[in-house]
Amino acid sequence: MRVFALLFLAFLASGASAIDFSNRYRSPRNAERRVRKSTELIVLHTTEAPARSSLNKLCERGEAHYCVTEDGTVYRIVDRDRVAFHAGRSMWNGKEDADEFSIGIECVGYHDKAMGIVQIRAIRDLVKELQRMYRIPDERVVCHSHVAYGAPNRWQKKNHRGRKRCGMLFAMPSVRAQLNLARRPASDADVRAKRLVVGDDYLRRVLYGNVDTMKSSYPKTPSPSRGQEGGGLLAWLRGDAKKPDTKKPDAGKTQISAKDPPEQKKLVPAPVAPVPPQAPPKSIAELKSRGYVFKGSVTKGVTASKIAGGRWNSKDTYYTIRNKVIPGDAIDPAHIENGMGVWMK
Ligand SMILES: [Zn+2]
Repeated sequence: MRVFALLFLAFLASGASAIDFSNRYRSPRNAERRVRKSTELIVLHTTEAPARSSLNKLCERGEAHYCVTEDGTVYRIVDRDRVAFHAGRSMWNGKEDADEFSIGIECVGYHDKAMGIVQIRAIRDLVKELQRMYRIPDERVVCHSHVAYGAPNRWQKKNHRGRKRCGMLFAMPSVRAQLNLARRPASDADVRAKRLVVGDDYLRRVLYGNVDTMKSSYPKTPSPSRGQEGGGLLAWLRGDAKKPDTKKPDAGKTQISAKDPPEQKKLVPAPVAPVPPQAPPKSIAELKSRGYVFKGSVTKGVTASKIAGGRWNSKDTYYTIRNKVIPGDAIDPAHIENGMGVWMK
């Protein structure tokens, strides 16, 4: 009995979790990284690049603790207690170098594009698990752009917030609701204390204001009485997201003076005739009969994105190998192999 109890305690102490990790891209840098002294923040990033190249780079340089791909796979890169180089020039509450006191999660995607629900759920579960382990409250789950700052340059004479828009969407109320995060940082302590100036006003309004360009990306099912997310959270969301701003950010510029857009159209679902769901094609013959065309095979020098471009992971792109047909939105980028055929319309 005692042996079992000890084993159970050891299991608890190891931080055992319900999340499935892949160690396929665990970084060789782990050995040289010291153990972090404290963990005060979870910092969310967007890779701004496709999965495969991102994973290779993160692994090679040890630039994150985790990377979550579109299919919901969580890759462990640097051990969670060690220092990963993910935040660069950064400051939070007067403390520089966020790498020393944070965990970094890279999410494959872009700072201004909605992510799919499978990926969002994987991020949500990972974040919840880490919050539990390190006792991190919701408002200390931040975006890279919350903590990054820029040194004086041609355009900005002072140290300024707004060096990056990395991970920006994770500050938007609709995305935080999806991640079950009830709070976000209320204001920028470093700007308030005049350690930094605001270098990107659009970013400031995303991080601390009402800008939420993802709001319409997640159509709600028309059942307004559902309150399972908690009245407090919903009220907070309603309060914070009254004036949606649909202006697209321009990542190239430091300062943007976007005006509030004209009144948005009312979100009344259009009466659309239900389309019967079609089963995905299961054979090459079926692909052909549905009008898909063979675009080429993946080889050493020819990647899937070279063949299919930005649609490499679209559900309307199919991969074929050994009589299997795999839709692009279900494919694990780490498992795209040489010889796979790429089919598109
Ligand atoms: Zn980042």
